[in-house]
Amino acid sequence: MVRRQIEARGIRDKAVLEAMQEVPRHLFVPEKVRSKSYDDRPLPIGLGQTISQPYIVAFMTELLQLEPDHRIFELGTGSGYQAAVASRIVKDVFTVEIYEELAVSAAQRLAELGYDNVHVKGGDGYYGWDEKAPFDAIIVTAAADHIPPPLIKQLRPGGRLIIPLGGPFSVQQLVLVEKGTDGSTKERSIIPVRFVPLLGH
Ligand code: SAH
Repeated sequence: MVRRQIEARGIRDKAVLEAMQEVPRHLFVPEKVRSKSYDDRPLPIGLGQTISQPYIVAFMTELLQLEPDHRIFELGTGSGYQAAVASRIVKDVFTVEIYEELAVSAAQRLAELGYDNVHVKGGDGYYGWDEKAPFDAIIVTAAADHIPPPLIKQLRPGGRLIIPLGGPFSVQQLVLVEKGTDGSTKERSIIPVRFVPLLGH
């Protein structure tokens, strides 16, 4: 998977490639789609939600330019897979999931597998996780029609945020937001993507 789907498409960050090698994706997908775990596509994880395609997980992680001392926030825990991948690179991952059922099962799975630097909370991630802010990087894994202002606020100056922007039934753009040291933000569209919609707020 890593060589054919990820390196072949230009992912070069060694830490990202190693993290993708290390995290057992098949343990993050439901039993009935387990045989498809390493296919080049997203997969259903229940409640109408999906675990992202492996390449997209790697690409979003690379775009954040993560460092070992970083503390990061994820909106949309889902299966916990993206959080697990990021947790191999950074110090701490704080992640929020709006479906309590998914939050509980992801937290349990991550604990069982020993990802103890991932911290999961049920709730509306639109508002971030104020007590744990500021974050060095933020990753949004559900499509929004705007960048949630609380997340910009909780991003440290010099930090990066990645978010799919656009309507739920159309192709969205993966947008990279860079926050300057003066607090101003710069946005850049990267590639078209398709994510499940941001709920709540
Ligand atoms: N990162 C996940 C993929 C998530 S799919 C993984 O690696 O498996 C997007 C997830 O975002 C879904 O689980 C969905 O329930 C969740 N979500 C949608 N809106 C949300 C919100 N406002 N706050 C928190 N989670 C949300």
